[in-house]
Amino acid sequence: MSATIFEKSHIGRGGIRLPKHQVQDAINLPKSLLREEKAKLPELSEFDVVRHFTNLSKKNYSIDSNFYPLGSCTMKYNPKVEERVANLDGFANLHPHHITNAKSNFIQGSLESLKILEDDLKEITGMDAFTLTPEAGAHGEMTGIMMIGAYHKKRGNKKRFVIVPDSSHGTNPASAAMVDFEVITVKSDKNGAMDVEAFKEAINDEVAAVMMTVPNTVGLFNPGIKEICDIAHSYDALMYYDGANLNAILGLIRPGDIGFDVVHLNLHKTFATPHGGGGPGSGPVGVKDKLIEFLPDLRVGYEKQKGYFIKEPSPYSIGKVSPFFGNYMISLRALVYMQTLGKEGMINVSRKAVLNANYILSKLKNYLDVPYDTFCMHECVLSAQSLYKQYHVSTLDIAKYLLDFGIHAPTIYFPLIVHEAIMIEPTETENIDTMDYFCQKVIDAVELAKNDPEAFKEFPKTLPISRADETKAARSLNIRWQED
Ligand SMILES: *Cc1c(COP(=O)(O)O)cnc(C)c1O
Repeated sequence: MSATIFEKSHIGRGGIRLPKHQVQDAINLPKSLLREEKAKLPELSEFDVVRHFTNLSKKNYSIDSNFYPLGSCTMKYNPKVEERVANLDGFANLHPHHITNAKSNFIQGSLESLKILEDDLKEITGMDAFTLTPEAGAHGEMTGIMMIGAYHKKRGNKKRFVIVPDSSHGTNPASAAMVDFEVITVKSDKNGAMDVEAFKEAINDEVAAVMMTVPNTVGLFNPGIKEICDIAHSYDALMYYDGANLNAILGLIRPGDIGFDVVHLNLHKTFATPHGGGGPGSGPVGVKDKLIEFLPDLRVGYEKQKGYFIKEPSPYSIGKVSPFFGNYMISLRALVYMQTLGKEGMINVSRKAVLNANYILSKLKNYLDVPYDTFCMHECVLSAQSLYKQYHVSTLDIAKYLLDFGIHAPTIYFPLIVHEAIMIEPTETENIDTMDYFCQKVIDAVELAKNDPEAFKEFPKTLPISRADETKAARSLNIRWQED
């Protein structure tokens, strides 16, 4: 039943029949532009089409249908009230040109929404100002590093390097390199945190910034973080906080209070706006006072007489990093999320996110390897290395097994510093029943690996395709239907 719509086509079958039009053709297209044969469109009844697409939609995997413990991605529930608000006429039908040509008063509400969002984010992170325009986490990182570059340039600092721990998110070194810095990687200590002694050896006068993913990709909070900030500042290197996973610390600590100068957030993760599949995101960047003059263009100001308005950019601004206000609808959804939760609600978010991850860690630690045996933050990292050594059942095999039980695969083979890594982020919105179900399925997989390792070759059995050639699928994907 998984034929394409072309294969279901039947000559002469149709949905609607339009009457012959009774007006003259407006233009006569030149013959050279006209097709010689009829377009090869599938011919189906309306009912066939409805059934085809309804069945296809059911094959989609989504957070609204099943558990999605994809580590580092924060696939939490996205409350539907956000959609209601983002779909209000006044927001949904606002043309981007109206929001940036703020001459008239009729967009005061939209500008106000951006100003409130900026103020809320400042309070949550302890930063002094935000740009809301970057359209993803990695885009925010690049924006932040560009501002750091502009800061050093204005001060006449000669800076070439950015320090990145080996436990940071892969986008960190990539963003630094895109802004033409050379990356110095510092290894982790046995507890999974950046080794402070190795860091002291690596830092020098030419280091522009230290980029830290907090918590790092093994789900741990570096206890030496304050010391690292102080050392970096003594070299006039700025501290960058990758806050894509802010649900670990939301309402509990603030990057600005620890000593960070720049932070980016992922509204599409922490602040529950839909994401995945490359959909729109938002990666606002917060800075301390000393970096405000470098912020990208398009920021909202407020004065009592004037109301809300768009500020003139400073002469040192790095310019625009995205058209208009980035993905405004994502900003709006995040604002609704924050306002409906309030301060107490947001503190509960991180408490529950951390509790849930530790619950899963404690249930699975007797079945899989634990690379760093300590409490984790919002996600936990386990490893199937022993299982692989003994029974040749890998992390990939376990992930494929889970698919048959309606569970999205956890993040696997990441972070790179853990062999056969399985990174699980349940998020705070999952209840204990779902987490117990998940843990039981992982435990079942481990038991099966011991008793019948060969069985894993066949999973998943219930999905349209089973095991794809992963390399071929990544390098030369071809999903186009062709007539034979
Ligand atoms: C997701 C993530 C990013 C990248 O965010 P995108 O929106 O996918 O560009 C960066 N850092 C960390 C820690 C992340 O989890």
